[in-house]
Amino acid sequence: MTVEAYAAQRAGTTLERWEYDPPPLGPFEAEIAVTHCGLCHSDVHIIRGDWGESFPVVPGHEVIGEVVAVGSAADSALVGQRVGVGWQAGACLACEYCLRGEENLCPMARQSCAGGHFGGFARRFRADSRFCHPIPLSMSSADAAPLLCAGITVYAPLKRYARAGHWRVGVVGIGGLGHLAIKFARAMGAEVTAFTTSAGKMDEVKALGAHHVVVTGEASALRRARSSLDFLLVTVNAALDWFSYAKTLRPNGVMCFVGAAENAVNIPVGAILSKQWVVTGGSIGGRADMRDMLAFAALHQITAQTETLPMTSINTAVQRLIANDVRYRFVLTWEGA
Ligand code: NAP
Ligand code: ZN
Repeated sequence: MTVEAYAAQRAGTTLERWEYDPPPLGPFEAEIAVTHCGLCHSDVHIIRGDWGESFPVVPGHEVIGEVVAVGSAADSALVGQRVGVGWQAGACLACEYCLRGEENLCPMARQSCAGGHFGGFARRFRADSRFCHPIPLSMSSADAAPLLCAGITVYAPLKRYARAGHWRVGVVGIGGLGHLAIKFARAMGAEVTAFTTSAGKMDEVKALGAHHVVVTGEASALRRARSSLDFLLVTVNAALDWFSYAKTLRPNGVMCFVGAAENAVNIPVGAILSKQWVVTGGSIGGRADMRDMLAFAALHQITAQTETLPMTSINTAVQRLIANDVRYRFVLTWEGA
C-alpha cells in the first residue's frame, strides 16, 4: 500500500504531495486513517530543519483518525475506534522512566514526525497502539486534535506545579499552546495573567479565561506585573529577556519553559537563590498525563479554538502560523472527514 502525504523534501521548502511505501505493520503498531491533524509550531521547526532532521519529512503530530489495522500483538478491539496520537509515537515501556509513567523521558522514545518517522499530514499514520489515545465522545475531532500536543504540553506542568488555594499563573505567548494554558489554568482554579505581544488579542484572551492581560510591547508593562506570580509558563519560541520575565515571580515562584526559545536563560544565580525561584522545563507528558488531560478537558469542556482548513491548504496554514496569523490553532482535514 502506498501512503499519500505532504512532505518537505529539503529544509525550509514548502510541503509537496509525496507518496511512500510503509514497511509491514509492527506487532504493537496501529494504522490510522487520518481525518484531522493540527499544525504545531514544532512542525515549523522541523520543516525548517532547526532540529537537524534528515529529509524528506512528513510533519504533523496532532493526529486523529480511525484505526484500520493493528499488528499481531496489539489489541484488536482498537480497530474501528477513533483515536489520537501526539508528539510521541512509542517508547520502550521498560526503562525507569516508562515504568514511572514518564514515557516522554524514555531514551528510546519515538516521535510521530521526526527521527525518520512520517507524520500526520498524510492519509495514513502509524504509531505504537499503546500511544493511541481514545478521544472523549463529547469532543469534535477538529477541536480535540490540538489537545494531543499543545494540550498535554501545557497541562502536564500546570498539574505538576499546581498549588492549593490562591495560585497566580502567568502564560507568555497566546498561540496554540498559550490559549490552552489559559483555559487549563483557569479550570484548575488559578488567577491567570496572559502576556501577549498582540494588543488585538486582548478581548479574546479575556474570553478564553485570563483575568489580566499584559501587552508586552513597552518595557513598563512587565514592570507593572513584578512579583505577582507563583508560576510562569513560557510558550514562545522567540529570544526574549528572560530575567525581565522572571521578575514577575514571587519568592518560591516557578518559571517553566515549554516553548523552544531561541536563546539561553540569562537569570543571575543571585536572583534565583535569594528568591528561591525554580527555573524548569516541560516536554509533552507521559501516557497517564495524557489520559488525565483528556478526562479533565472533557469534564471542564476544554477544547482548542481552531481554524479548520483542507489538507490541500497546508502551505497556507504554515505561512500564516509563521506570521502569527491564527486564532489559535490550524487543523487540517481530508475532504469528507
Ligand atoms: P504558536 O501557535 O506560533 O504560538 C506562539 C506564540 O508566541 C504566538 O502566538 C505569539 O503570541 C508569541 N510570539 C510569537 N513570536 C513572538 C516574539 N517574537 N516575541 C514574543 N512573543 C512571540 O506556537 P505553538 O504551537 O504554541 O508553539 C510554541 C513553541 O512551543 C514552539 O517553539 C514549539 O516548538 C514549542 N512546543 C514545545 C513542546 C514541548 O513539549 N515542550 C510541545 C509543543 C510545542 P502573542 O501573539 O500572544 O504574543
Ligand atoms: Zn507540537
